[in-house]
Amino acid sequence: MTTLAILTAAGSGSRLGRDLPKALVELDGFPLVLHAARRLAASGVVDSLVVTSPGGLVGVMTDLLAGDPHVPVPVVVTDGGPTRQASVAAGLALARSTDDIVLVHDAARPLVPADLVQRVVGAVRNGHRAVVPGLPVTDTVKQVRPDGDAELVTGTPDRSMLRAVQTPQGFDRELLVRAHHEGAARALAEHLAATDDAGLVEALGEPVHIVAGDAAAFKITTERDLWFASLVLQETHA
Ligand code: C5P
Repeated sequence: MTTLAILTAAGSGSRLGRDLPKALVELDGFPLVLHAARRLAASGVVDSLVVTSPGGLVGVMTDLLAGDPHVPVPVVVTDGGPTRQASVAAGLALARSTDDIVLVHDAARPLVPADLVQRVVGAVRNGHRAVVPGLPVTDTVKQVRPDGDAELVTGTPDRSMLRAVQTPQGFDRELLVRAHHEGAARALAEHLAATDDAGLVEALGEPVHIVAGDAAAFKITTERDLWFASLVLQETHA
């Protein structure tokens, strides 16, 4: 019985405004995908990795990850798809029947702490078949719809009942395979595709549980996030 982690790294990262795919942008001298792979491996609860690659970069990604001494687990790199959902499905197709747990983690969250990975896997091992790390929402959130040149507020959800979710998300493999199979029609179009895997499990009507997230697992989207991540690392090294 083993745990496979699918590391999604096939996005373009256009909001970072670089010529490189986001997963290959460097932080503290190493690409984001390498940071994320090292953190997953350091958790001690991940047995193998499948990494989704931007088109044409499978060889580059394989050289980067498979030879890294801090990623001491088997790594397979495969082409991603046009959406994150399609990329995860491509990775999931490589899972083996002995992988009872599948984690899905975004390379865009390079500083994920080992104990967060352990918490998610532990909750799946304890019987929750779909587990997502989440943090309380500190901003008040409005629901809106378009209204001419502005937007009309249609509601204010009670923020004490909201969670901002992160990755890695952890699943019983069979449940995740079924969720991707049932939701496959959504995977090809960005406006239909699931932005996280738990959403596909929810669409089946199956329960999804939240465990405590960690601010350190924040997602890198903009140049400012990258700058903040480098400050966090400097502080850890100091
Ligand atoms: O674009 P966003 O930051 O939401 O992407 C989340 C993660 O999904 C990133 O790690 C990105 O590389 C990955 N992704 C992917 N395939 C895509 C789009 C995004 O693997 N087609």
